[in-house]
Amino acid sequence: MIQSLYIHLPFCNHICSYCDFTKGYYTKKEKQNYLSSLKKEIASYSIKDPLKTIYIGGGTPSSLEKELLETLFEMIKPIPKEKDLEFTFECNIEDITEELLKLLKASGVNRLSIGVESFLPKIEQLLGRKSCANKQEKILLAKKYFKNISVDWMYGVRGQTKKDIQKDLEEFLKLKVPHISCYALILEQHTILSVSKYQEIEEELVATMYETISKALKEHGYIHYEISNFSLPGYESRHNLTYWHNEPYYGVGLGASGYVKKKRYTNTKSMTNYQKGNIRSYEEIVDQKLDMEYEMILNLRLKEGVSKSNFKKKFGKEIKEVFDVKKLKETKDSYVIPEEEFFISNAILCDFVE
Ligand code: SF4
Repeated sequence: MIQSLYIHLPFCNHICSYCDFTKGYYTKKEKQNYLSSLKKEIASYSIKDPLKTIYIGGGTPSSLEKELLETLFEMIKPIPKEKDLEFTFECNIEDITEELLKLLKASGVNRLSIGVESFLPKIEQLLGRKSCANKQEKILLAKKYFKNISVDWMYGVRGQTKKDIQKDLEEFLKLKVPHISCYALILEQHTILSVSKYQEIEEELVATMYETISKALKEHGYIHYEISNFSLPGYESRHNLTYWHNEPYYGVGLGASGYVKKKRYTNTKSMTNYQKGNIRSYEEIVDQKLDMEYEMILNLRLKEGVSKSNFKKKFGKEIKEVFDVKKLKETKDSYVIPEEEFFISNAILCDFVE
């Protein structure tokens, strides 16, 4: 059964200097046309099983005009959903208004993922984020409408000091947001930062920042449930857990990825091709060997790790028969990457793919 749906909206009103997501500036007409193509792609899956999670990401979904947002929600309405659906909508903090929150709430959204990145103007500037002087007020306003809120926080930025990390941390803790995703700045090719010859900061310093953040959040009751994600109990992202549990999901829209009927795919990043119906740019058939590799590299991102009994049930084999697990910590029914090694997890995960 496939019970998760990701919808990509590639529109932004402003391009951040570090961003390599699928996004761009589009006119209202172009956005309208995109929504029509999106509708066709969603219909092509004839979704029958009720969804447990929907995630609308981008781009900047919150930059969409009100009437286009209404069109989008109308499109989603007929899809069967479970009663306790988790329905996430990504917002940039500067877009948050009472009007938008009301519309989202009335449309069934029950979780917000807010791009904050930092409260400090100097970090906002370096990241090329749109400045927003009253981020705290915006989050408090969002909390009036939504209990389940996640924020994105970026660290590992040149010029960011330990004190800066501390200041952002204090703000997040004061606001008591139940879910925090922390990402180290990565210099991606063809971004404004890479063109302007930005120099990444030393790995050691990034590791120290990660450690400081993890320690402080845990002291305040957050569970470090995934390498980059922290939540108060019960606020883990159910949608993202679908990915990390190696379960199938529909991914629709420009550049979106999905996993349907044992095929993993990525959609085209070309708007022209997408609208012509030439949707796929990549497809991979997931045979048992590949599936076992995905099971390891995705499950191991989680604190709970990979379950021995689930693996046996799913593949009819013991993990040990298939993989060299010497770098992992063994518990009664699982293998895990110990939290102290989360920061270097990529090096460990490499061992499980050919
Ligand atoms: S980071 Fe978000 S808002 Fe900034 S350009 Fe990328 S998708 Fe748009």
